[in-house]
Amino acid sequence: MMTKPCRRCKNTYPATSEYFTIAKHVKSGITSYCRECERVRKTEYRKLHIDQCREIVRKYHNEHKQERKDRYEKNKEKILTQCKEYYNNNKREAISIRKQYKKLNKDKISSYKRKYMNKIKSLPNTLSLVDWQYCQQFFNNRCAYCGKDNVRLEKEHFIPASKNGPLSKSNILPSCAQCNSSKQETDFEEWYKKQTFYSHERQFYILLYLSLMKREESTNAKPPFKALREAGMQ
Ligand SMILES: [Zn+2]
Ligand SMILES: [Zn+2]
Repeated sequence: MMTKPCRRCKNTYPATSEYFTIAKHVKSGITSYCRECERVRKTEYRKLHIDQCREIVRKYHNEHKQERKDRYEKNKEKILTQCKEYYNNNKREAISIRKQYKKLNKDKISSYKRKYMNKIKSLPNTLSLVDWQYCQQFFNNRCAYCGKDNVRLEKEHFIPASKNGPLSKSNILPSCAQCNSSKQETDFEEWYKKQTFYSHERQFYILLYLSLMKREESTNAKPPFKALREAGMQ
């Protein structure tokens, strides 16, 4: 087998792509540094030229925005699972990165929040405390989507506020924080069918509840909660 010394650490390795990075523009087809040295060299280079590197990345990102969006949409599930996996394996690091991001982008984040709150305020708000209590009761104090109990339930907009979904009994569902932040702007059916906790039965109850509430809003008739629950909802 052909071997080759690394120009940096002087160790000799088999001249294969397992030990050396492939380099199409050189005659031998592989770099003169071994993989480990190449990695160190790149890291050092990046440290020395951090601004230029950032600029290049930024430029590339701007020029390939649509492609990136398309690629993301196409591989969404895979990317999200990878992110989740990475997060679980590097929790401490991920938390500190998030903290740093928050610190660096304070203004951006608070402007998003302000915009969101203004949007919510501009939409009808007819949900009374009793409505909200009824709503939680109907779903047996569980998350309407995943069925988790013993969690703090948030008022989740079935039709997102960004799509003008009001804060009303026919548009609010009790949801755990995870489902709430995972659903976000996505269309309910598209999002729900992809979840591991998808349940045909819960979907039925969600749609039933919302249609009952719609009817109640228009006719002021009270739906028979107790009978419905006894009919089979867990
Ligand atoms: Zn080396
Ligand atoms: Zn949930």
